[in-house]
Amino acid sequence: MTLDTKTEYDYIIGGAGLAGLTLAWQMLENDLLDQKQLLIIDRDQKNTNDRTWCFWAEADEWLNNLPISKSWKNAIVIGNDFEIKQSLKPYQYFKIEGIDYYNFIFNKLKEHPQISVIQDVIVNEDSENHIINTQKTQYQFTEYFFKSYFIADELSQIKNPKKHFIWQHFLGWKIITKANFFESETITYMDMRVPEVKAGLSFGYILPEKQNEALVEYTLFSSELWKKEEYEQALKNYIENTLKIREYDIIEEEFNKIPMTNTIFEQRNKNIIPIGTLAGTVKPSTGYSFVRNYKHIQLIVNSLKNNTQSFESANSKRFRFYDEVLMNVLVTEKSSGHEVFGKLYKGNSLATLLKFLNEETSLWEDLKIMNTVPKWAFIKAVVGEFNKVLRINNNKVD
Ligand SMILES: Cc1cc2nc3c(=O)[nH]c(=O)nc-3n(C[C@H](O)[C@H](O)[C@H](O)COP(=O)(O)OP(=O)(O)OC[C@H]3O[C@@H](n4cnc5c(N)ncnc54)[C@H](O)[C@@H]3O)c2cc1C
Repeated sequence: MTLDTKTEYDYIIGGAGLAGLTLAWQMLENDLLDQKQLLIIDRDQKNTNDRTWCFWAEADEWLNNLPISKSWKNAIVIGNDFEIKQSLKPYQYFKIEGIDYYNFIFNKLKEHPQISVIQDVIVNEDSENHIINTQKTQYQFTEYFFKSYFIADELSQIKNPKKHFIWQHFLGWKIITKANFFESETITYMDMRVPEVKAGLSFGYILPEKQNEALVEYTLFSSELWKKEEYEQALKNYIENTLKIREYDIIEEEFNKIPMTNTIFEQRNKNIIPIGTLAGTVKPSTGYSFVRNYKHIQLIVNSLKNNTQSFESANSKRFRFYDEVLMNVLVTEKSSGHEVFGKLYKGNSLATLLKFLNEETSLWEDLKIMNTVPKWAFIKAVVGEFNKVLRINNNKVD
C-alpha cells in the first residue's frame, strides 16, 4: 500500500467502508490486482470504531477469516404477552467491531505497493472521461470506478416516490451494570415492550458481552427521525423501567441511522459501478447488509475474473416483493409493527425466520410463514404493490 502522487489507476474505489474495503480485500485474495493499480479514496481515516456489525450465518469457511469478536447461539424475543428463548441453530449470531474490520483489511492491503489509499473528499465523477474529482485533485481510472460513498442524510432525497423509504434509527449504550444482569450467551433480538411507533416498529435490542456488560439499543423503523434527547429518554426508560436496571455506567454510545428502502439509489453508469448501500445491499425489511454485501462482492469479483461485465446484485425478485409488501404494511399502517412481528415470532421458530430473512427459504416455507401474519393487512398490501406495478407498466405502454 502506498501514498503516492500518481493520478491514473486501473481501478478506483470511492469509500473505504464495508463495501469498498471488502471489495479491495477480495480483489487481492482473488489475484485480480497482480498486474493492476488500485486507488481507494475515503474522506475519513477509518481509525475509529464507528459501528458494530452483527449478522447471522451458519458456520462456514469464509467466517474463519473474519475478525469476529463474539458470537451467540441463542436469542430471546419478547412482546407484551410472550417471551420466547430459542437456539438459533443452525445459525449463530456474530459480531465484528468496525475498527477491527478496517484494521484487518488495511493490514492486508499495506503489503501491496500496487494499492494506494488516500484521504480526500470525492466531489463528483465523470463517467464519459473516467475522471474522479476530489477536493484536492483529479484522478483517472482506466477500467472501473466502484462507488460506495454516500451522505446518509441525502439518501432520503433521492428516493423513488413509487418505492417505500423509512429509516432504521437507533441509540445504543454499552453499559456496565453493578449487579450481574445479562445472559452472556443469549442476545435479545427484539424486545417489543416499548411504546408503539406510528407507521413503523420500535424495539429494544441487547448484545451482552458479559453478565454485567452489554450494548443496549433502542431501535425504530420509521420515516420520522427524533431529536437526540428523545432517543436518550426512550433508552433510559427501557433500561431503567422495562429491564429494571437501576445502577449502570455508560461506556460507549452508538447513535446512527440506516436507510431501509426498496429504492436502488444508483444504477451502473458506464464504468461506474455502485456497490454497498448505493447498490441495494442493505435489506429493506431489516437494515442488515453484512452478508448481502459479501455476496455482492463475490459476484463482482467473479465477474471481473470471467470478464462478464455484469455487476448487478442478484437479489431474488420473490424476496424483493416480500420486502415491499412488509414495508407497505408498516408504512401505510395496515397493521402495527408489534402485531406483525409478534405474530411472526409466535407462529415460527427464530431459525426459520432468520432463514427467511436470509432469503434461503423455499416457496412452501414462505407460505407457512405467511400463514402466521395478519392476513387482511398483507392481502391489502399485496394488492397495493401489484397495483403499483400495473400502473408503472401502463405508464410505460402509454
Ligand atoms: C451504526 C451502524 C450499525 C450498523 N450495524 C449493522 C449490523 O449490525 N449488521 C448489518 O448487517 N448492517 C449494519 N449496518 C448497516 C450496514 O452494514 C452499514 O451501514 C455498512 O457500513 C454499509 O456499507 P457501505 O460500504 O455501503 O457504507 P459505509 O460503510 O458507510 O462506507 C461508505 C464510506 O464512504 C465514505 N465517504 C462518504 N462520503 C465520501 C466522500 N464524499 N468522499 C470520500 N469518501 C466518502 C465514508 O467515510 C465511508 O467510509 C449498520 C450501519 C450503521 C450506520
